[in-house]
Amino acid sequence: MTADLLVDRISLLLTMEPGTPGARDAPLGALEDAAVAFLDGKVAWIGPAGQGPDAARVLDGRGCVALPGLVDPHTHAVWAGSRADEFQRRLAGASYTEILEAGGGILSTVRQTRAASLRALTALAAARLAGMRARGVTTVEVKSGYGLTPGDERKMLEAARAVTGGPRVVTTFLGAHAVPAELRGRRDAYVAQVIEEQLPACAPWAEAIDVYCDRGAFDLDEAVAILQAGRALGLKVRAHAEQVAYTGIAAAAAALGATCVDHLERLDPAGVAAMAAHGTVAVLLPGAQLYLRDSAPPVAALREAGVPLALGTDLNPGSSPLHDPWTNATLGCLLQGLTVEEALLGMTRAAGQALGHPELGHLGPGAVGDLVLVRSPPGEPPSAAALVQHLGGAQVRAVVQGGRLVAPPGAPGTGRDGQSTDIAIA
Ligand SMILES: [Zn+2]
Repeated sequence: MTADLLVDRISLLLTMEPGTPGARDAPLGALEDAAVAFLDGKVAWIGPAGQGPDAARVLDGRGCVALPGLVDPHTHAVWAGSRADEFQRRLAGASYTEILEAGGGILSTVRQTRAASLRALTALAAARLAGMRARGVTTVEVKSGYGLTPGDERKMLEAARAVTGGPRVVTTFLGAHAVPAELRGRRDAYVAQVIEEQLPACAPWAEAIDVYCDRGAFDLDEAVAILQAGRALGLKVRAHAEQVAYTGIAAAAAALGATCVDHLERLDPAGVAAMAAHGTVAVLLPGAQLYLRDSAPPVAALREAGVPLALGTDLNPGSSPLHDPWTNATLGCLLQGLTVEEALLGMTRAAGQALGHPELGHLGPGAVGDLVLVRSPPGEPPSAAALVQHLGGAQVRAVVQGGRLVAPPGAPGTGRDGQSTDIAIA
């Protein structure tokens, strides 16, 4: 075999597969002095350094930790406009309600997203997703939810899918994100529009359906009806659940077969039990907890029940303008009580499960060929803990997606087939 790419002499490889031969530290599947070969977009071989197959291109992983390409299972990365003013007003003491009444908040993003062209939205999303991939993200979920009309919701999904040259994009329809200003006080009419008009227009552009079930948004009955309508069209089910107020949507969505439910700050024991019973992944969003100065979800109860824990950035212009998955991992540990192992699994394997894509987020023969090569902060030996301990300290050296070296642009070796490179001299 001649591989397309060999990443050799990796100081520490974390496969996220507990059954990796020779690996220690289950569930991370740690191998020291290892190598990974890629062929035809997939992992072709994993083994000791220096024993890999011939390859058209070789990267030197000395001094680095290699992980599966990161998966961000929850973003709102398509939007237009800025809410930086709102951030300043909130720092000065304005409440969310005051900001909303002054025309700010989510409805200001809706106005600006509606006014933006498909081309402009695509360019904005592409720039954000390029930034995420430079940080090691190779798969990202992107939602609609700032259009709130059939045409504008579809425009958002089209924009997400039109992004090329970035991470793999998984789209989710979130028409039930908020009631638009023109239907204020007429939630029934808006729910009918979501089910009867938006869903048929958007389902061909989406893989999943999501709903914001909460105080001030949609109630449990409305949310279940919307999720059932999406499921009937073949969409995977997920929900923004138990964030501001407890509604019962986590248990209801789990019973509908949701791949994941997200937020969960106010999750109750019945919700935990339902998620465990149905194999539903918990997507934790510490960025939103930080920006909203909220309390943590019941992570210990979820862990105790065996619910997989995934981490999303929730990237959005208001409640979580967080672009960096590494910072997110640190926040997950400090704000929500995750262990280092849980944080790293949460941004790889568990995040793939959350999306209903169990083929993502782990490295073994036949797995999707996504890998991130990262250095610990200066002075730190290559270790899982150092990557998470330092806030924003992880230094991404190379990103492999679909078996190809895709970042950073102009990385040593990208234009020189067959030559070993010095991308990561120890
Ligand atoms: Zn969200």
